[in-house]
Amino acid sequence: MPNRIPESANMRWKTVREPRLIFEKSSPGQIGANLPKADTPEVDLAATLGDLRDGVEWPEVSELEVMRHFVNLSHINYGIETGFYPLGSCTMKYNPRINEVTAGLSGFRNIHPLMPEDTVQGALEVICGVKEYLMEITGFYEITQQPVAGAHGEMTCLMLIKAFHAANGEGDKRTVVLIPDSAHGTNPASAARCGYDVKSIPTDAEGNTDLVALEAALDDTVAAFMVTNPSTLGLFEPNIERVCELVHAVGGQVFCDGANMNAMVGTTRPGDHGFDCMHLNLHKTFSTPHGGGGPGCGAIGLQEHLAKFMPAPVVTRGEFEVFLDYDRPDSIGRVSSFYGQFLMAVRALTYLMAYGKEGLPNISRYAVLNANYVKARLADVLPAAHDRPCMHECVLTASKYKKLGVRALDISKRLIDHGFHPPTNYFPLIVPEAMMIEPTETESKETLDRFCDAMIAICKEAEEDPDALHNAPATQIVGRLDEARAVKFLDVKYKKESEEPVSV
Ligand SMILES: *Cc1c(COP(=O)(O)O)cnc(C)c1O
Repeated sequence: MPNRIPESANMRWKTVREPRLIFEKSSPGQIGANLPKADTPEVDLAATLGDLRDGVEWPEVSELEVMRHFVNLSHINYGIETGFYPLGSCTMKYNPRINEVTAGLSGFRNIHPLMPEDTVQGALEVICGVKEYLMEITGFYEITQQPVAGAHGEMTCLMLIKAFHAANGEGDKRTVVLIPDSAHGTNPASAARCGYDVKSIPTDAEGNTDLVALEAALDDTVAAFMVTNPSTLGLFEPNIERVCELVHAVGGQVFCDGANMNAMVGTTRPGDHGFDCMHLNLHKTFSTPHGGGGPGCGAIGLQEHLAKFMPAPVVTRGEFEVFLDYDRPDSIGRVSSFYGQFLMAVRALTYLMAYGKEGLPNISRYAVLNANYVKARLADVLPAAHDRPCMHECVLTASKYKKLGVRALDISKRLIDHGFHPPTNYFPLIVPEAMMIEPTETESKETLDRFCDAMIAICKEAEEDPDALHNAPATQIVGRLDEARAVKFLDVKYKKESEEPVSV
């Protein structure tokens, strides 16, 4: 069919498809700021400091051009607001806009952490309210919202565990942290950061912790076992109580990586499974937008025996007021300035109260239902790595297309041409050609069907026309990037086309 869109109407499409750098939009004499005439003596900066602009070519653009430039850039961005985002292990759910309304209220936004406690009782009530909800949801004795990322929460838990062993006179003896081979990379990083030696525990054929290997690795040098439940395979660990018993029997502690809490809200409590501590990603499960590097909250839950070591101050409910308890002589100290990301507590409380006790379990019920639906619909083209019901995400394998020269990455890149964000690829590391799909509870059956139809069509294409996949994405302003090169030879300095590229 001939393209009947007139050239002029196509302009916006063109701006988005062929964005020029702001330097290329520069036109001499254009200016984006309008400053009043100076009423102080003029100083010749160049005479005192030298010409600071030497070698820097600032773009000359009007205010309107600057605005259009950045608005157009925002239109080539992809986010949960523009489409389905099934990135496994990341819980890219829709964050209700009411959260932003409350987080934007001036009484929350314009207060300062150094204000006297009696003037910010409302804010302390919010932090305490979230803490009490999370204690109820997780079954832990205490919660702190100080850590500002999941990885930071992991590290804080290990610091508590370290302080606990030291207080028992076993600090020098317990040097090892055990971690399953399916774990998220932050787990070994946190353990190493805390000075522990890391030992890997294999996963058995069903996708559970290999109990025989675990028992063989357990002795009195073990400080902790870090388990993710549900695991990064999207599977609930059925032996979790046994795992905790075995580790406790040799005096070790058990940490739960709770980034996957979206599978369990209101349906089961990790504090009842035998764990000593866990971290939660409020920016995943409890609905703060994420993916751009923050803000984050890796709140941690802990049992009573670890409470005296927890970061101070502890937000505590008194008889008439909420106060900050600094009188914690055994505390490991602060792990962040003040009390963490306060406005995330406002968002989390809004979210928790909007769902309420009756509504919260539906988060996980629908998250689990949606993941099992996708797993079942794709079973013929992309079988699950483990054939059993999954929790909030499913891990599929694309290995049968490898003989056709098609990899998981090719399928993911082709998905972009169908208008979807790709799932997580090649994680967990133990599943060949892994595609990890986390649909979340906020997507409708219609959206999941459109996604599954696209995946099925792509898998058919892999057999009939594999090159269409190799050349994907074909609809974006950039094709396939050399990701390793992009990281190693970061090129962020503008230069005119005539100049040689500079790498930094
Ligand atoms: C996201 C995630 C983490 C780390 O959380 P950050 O906030 O990114 O530091 C840890 N473990 C698992 C399983 C995760 O999915």
